[in-house]
Amino acid sequence: MSAAPIHELHNSQNSDRGAQMKKKYLPNTRDARATMGYLVEECGEVLAAVGKTLRHGLTSCNPELPIEEQETNRDWILRELKDLEHAIKLVRVSLGPEDGPR
Ligand SMILES: [Mg+2]
Repeated sequence: MSAAPIHELHNSQNSDRGAQMKKKYLPNTRDARATMGYLVEECGEVLAAVGKTLRHGLTSCNPELPIEEQETNRDWILRELKDLEHAIKLVRVSLGPEDGPR
């Protein structure tokens, strides 16, 4: 597994989706507890997005958000799935190779 600094992994994430992900919310360490905490948070965000979508539909938006921050539930799910994929990548890096020392 690559030993790239953790912020370089975030940079590759952010280039995929512009400035949507706030770096201050990303783990700044390879510590497994930190990356697993981030993973759990992103799992919860995917669950929230899918749950709202099942109730209100793919084209619905959160009316509580300012108009400039509104996005469809479809776009919300896709954004959260990218976050989750990034969290999975960070956890894999923090845990080390599957066939490595335990
Ligand atoms: Mg998220």
